[in-house]
Amino acid sequence: MKKLIIDMDDVLCEKGFLRMVNAFLGTDYQEEDAGSYYINDLIPKEKFSEWLQFFEENNVYDYVNLKENVQEVLKKLNETYDIYIATSYVFRDDNQLSGKSLKDKFEYLYKNFPFINPEKYIFITNKEIIKADIRIDDSIQKLEGDAEIKLLFTAYHNVNISEEELKKKNLIRVNDWKEIEKILL
Ligand SMILES: [Mg+2]
Repeated sequence: MKKLIIDMDDVLCEKGFLRMVNAFLGTDYQEEDAGSYYINDLIPKEKFSEWLQFFEENNVYDYVNLKENVQEVLKKLNETYDIYIATSYVFRDDNQLSGKSLKDKFEYLYKNFPFINPEKYIFITNKEIIKADIRIDDSIQKLEGDAEIKLLFTAYHNVNISEEELKKKNLIRVNDWKEIEKILL
């Protein structure tokens, strides 16, 4: 079986930090307002310690929604590919809270993707050290490792990357799980 490495945030589920930051600030920011990969950059400096406490007391995965068709397509892919979910869990804003982040991630995956064995979860930042035949991620940096096929899942922070640049990096853009199904099955 070919080894398929799949990212979690903005690939399996979406909008967790956006909704959580809005709940914390009482705002109605949209993803494109962040201007970077990190939605948390919208938090003013003077609210930072309050934000850390909010993060500790809440679960970002209570704010997400699953990507459309993800469970159905992943279930099918799971019969043909050796699937691993690779996700970074280090909480940038306070590394000490990363254990909580890991727990919340684990529980979300366990509940929503019962057909994937938890032994197939990889909690990691530098995904390029994992060997893979196929990679799916919304981050260009995290698609840097070798692979036959690399699928870039469209997200707010990568919409402006040109077709030319994608070609240079051997990346194929996908907008949803039905497109992934068409390419991989
Ligand atoms: Mg991601």
